[in-house]
Amino acid sequence: MADSTASADTDSDPAGRTVAVSLRNATKVYDNGVVALGPIDLEVRRGEFVSLLGPSGCGKSTALRLIAGLSLPSSGTVRVARPTVTAGGGHPVGFVFQEPTLMPWTTVRENVRLPLKLAHVPSSTAKARVDEALVQVGLSEFANAYPRELSGGMKMRVSLARALVTDPDILLMDEPFAALDEITRFRLNNDLLALWRSLRKTVIFVTHSVFESVYLSQRVLVMTARPGRIAAEIGVETSEPRGEDFRTSADYAGYCRKVSNALAPAYSGSPA
Ligand code: ADP
Ligand code: MG
Repeated sequence: MADSTASADTDSDPAGRTVAVSLRNATKVYDNGVVALGPIDLEVRRGEFVSLLGPSGCGKSTALRLIAGLSLPSSGTVRVARPTVTAGGGHPVGFVFQEPTLMPWTTVRENVRLPLKLAHVPSSTAKARVDEALVQVGLSEFANAYPRELSGGMKMRVSLARALVTDPDILLMDEPFAALDEITRFRLNNDLLALWRSLRKTVIFVTHSVFESVYLSQRVLVMTARPGRIAAEIGVETSEPRGEDFRTSADYAGYCRKVSNALAPAYSGSPA
């Protein structure tokens, strides 16, 4: 029996750091019998930037949906720390999907405002929050633009602003930059790192790109093929803040090699 999604605000790891998310022996079996995930053990500390890296279909999105509380584990437990209460009202998680999923009939501002509208946040508070989120993603000048007027990268920035507008403690990102060209992706990677440094959110970032996972995260959790489990955990230690120097460094190449090696078994036996 699953313990379902529980909240805890006092959990800490053996070193005394606050645990933001923990999965214990968690599995997910869908109604059609597909064993999608686990059993998986995973712990993310408050303020950490962690990537979940694995092949397509291994259960990465399933893991994020469990953490977001959008789906319940079939067995095991999923715990998410209660939000710290802030001026934004405190919210446990913000979710950024692979597709920007914007409402095409309305403006950037209204798209970003949606979560506050759903939470019945008064309009004066909401306006200030939306303005702040638009500044955070660099889109203030496009507040009144419509999605069709934006590039792919800008649409993704709107999606990120919509996730940030409730000031969540934890940001869950599901392959958000996978559809973007490389230069745009690199810019968004840098902007995301800058945001993470200034906002100190916990970020769980799903990707199937070795290069992206190493560039962004403090820890890369490499998953096996479906049903996904954690095959390896690789810490990325380098001087901060990271920038283009890191991307072209021998250290970066070394970490990418290490992560690729850990990932290789997940691809063996499946056709290319
Ligand atoms: P990933 O994000 O790593 O590509 P997913 O978590 O989306 O993987 O999916 C893991 C497995 O579960 C896949 O085989 C997928 O087809 C299956 N799956 C995902 N969602 C559902 C669902 N709602 N019902 C049945 N099977 C699903
Ligand atoms: Mg997915």
